[in-house]
Parts: sequence; structure tokens; C-alpha cells
Amino acid sequence: MQIHDTIAGLRTALAGAGRIVFVPTMGNLHEGHIALMRQARAHGDTLVSSLFVNRLQFGPKEDFDTYPRTFEADCEKMAAAGGAHLFAPDEREMYPTPQAYHVQPAATQADILEGEFRPGFFRGVATVVLKLFSIVQPQAALFGKKDYQQLMVIRNMVREFALPIDIIPGETVRAADGLALSSRNGYLSAQERAEAPRLYRVLERIRKDIQAGEPDVARLEQGAMAELRASGWIPQYVAVRKQVDLQLPAAHDSGLVVLGAALLGSTRLIDNLEV
Ligand code: AMP
Repeated sequence: MQIHDTIAGLRTALAGAGRIVFVPTMGNLHEGHIALMRQARAHGDTLVSSLFVNRLQFGPKEDFDTYPRTFEADCEKMAAAGGAHLFAPDEREMYPTPQAYHVQPAATQADILEGEFRPGFFRGVATVVLKLFSIVQPQAALFGKKDYQQLMVIRNMVREFALPIDIIPGETVRAADGLALSSRNGYLSAQERAEAPRLYRVLERIRKDIQAGEPDVARLEQGAMAELRASGWIPQYVAVRKQVDLQLPAAHDSGLVVLGAALLGSTRLIDNLEV
């Protein structure tokens, strides 16, 4: 696997690479990232990944400085997963001057759910992803359903700007006890790690109740929030939404997704399940 830290070097190396398939990451790779890369190989001739912890998408009180950086191990894992090229720029290469142009997704998509609790997050994500797309110029790119709202924002950005890129979703990879793999799981103490799968379990119960015909989703959402609170979490939202646009469903709508975000100690966990 070739590693590039400059845009010019990457572009030279990718000339004549055929159909490029791209998996952007912030590193500290786990099986979720690796599964995306393995899945990606079927969608192009040349698999390109990126590793860049994007300051733009972190709030001032968030974990940008402490976000786990494990470059050597990540390179080995990416190479083993079939990566042909890794783009790993530093901040000066990505943002040589403070980024003055941004992609601002509509408030209906960017200020709800994650956006309500992480103001500016989707603006930072959309901006860096558009920039990475412009640098890598892939024909396909993969994003995990673990970050469901992010996947929706990127799909909509690609459609509205008519970018010639197929956006391919990857299923969420979980630990045996149901906890969705995340780089932030490493922040959990042993006790918190044992408690963490509760987020998945409350979402799964809502999914089952909806499938069994329960019409009162607000009651299900409130019940899940109450259980998390009673178990020492600080829930931020548990919400049943339409998969397509994450807006509130009407009665009898199908194609739903239940999403949740909660703090366990100082660690913020998110998860979701399609219904
Ligand atoms: P990140 O490094 O957190 O920005 O994630 C890079 C990509 O991996 C994103 O498309 C994520 O949605 C995806 N991803 C993160 N965790 C998982 C997981 N547990 N299962 C599948 N994909 C994941």
C-alpha cells in the first residue's frame, strides 16, 4: 500500500488507476472500518482510504486533541484489508489557510438529532468529505450506517451537487454483546464497557415493539430514555424516524429507523437500527 501525505502525490499516483473506490476514516481502525474496506473492493479497481482527524467537525469542547491516533497500526490494517493507497495528510496540507468556504447542509437535516447536540458537526463533515472527494475523485465511496445521519447528509450532498459518485452503505459491525464498534469505545472503563450494550438493547426493544404493531412511538422513545437514565446514562435522544430523510414518521409509515445517542460517563455513544 502506498501512503501519500500530499494531494499532488496522491493525484500523480492515481493517474490511470481505473475505477477508484474510496473509504474515508479518522483512523483508530476497528472491524467496522475494515469491513467497509473489504466490502469496497468489489466496487472498484483501486481501493483508496484516507486517514484524517478533521478538526472542522469537532466542537470546541469535544475530543479533537484526545481522539485516538494509531497511525502505524492503522496502516497495517488498511494494507491487510486490500487498500492500494492511503491518503494521510496533515492539517497544513488539508487546510493550508483556514477553510473559508463550507458546505452547509439544510437545517432540516443538519440541526436535528446529532446536529442538535453537535452544532456545526455536519457542516464540518460535509465540507471535508466534499474536499476529499475533490482530491481523490472516486467513482464510489463507502460510509457506515453506524453514522446514519452522516450517510444521509452525504447522499443528499452528492445528489444535490450532481457529484458522479456512487454512495454505498455498510452495515454496522458490532461486538458479540451488541455494542456497535466505535473508536470512542476505547474511552470506556471496564464497568462502562459492560453497561454500554444497553443502548443497543433499548433500540432493539423499540424495533421489536414497532414490528409487533405498537403504534405509540413516543411512549417507546420515552421508555427507552427512562431506562437509560435509570441505569446512569445521560440520554440525548432516542428517536424513531423515517429512514429516507430522518423526519418524523406519520402513522403507518414503514421504512423507519430508531436512533439513539447517550453519554455514559464522559463517553458519548450513538447507535441506530433500521426497522
Ligand atoms: P470514522 O473513522 O469514525 O470517521 O468512521 C469511518 C467510517 O467507518 C464511517 O463511514 C463510519 O460510518 C464507519 N464506521 C464506523 N464504525 C462502524 C461500525 N461499527 N460498523 C460499520 N461502519 C462503521
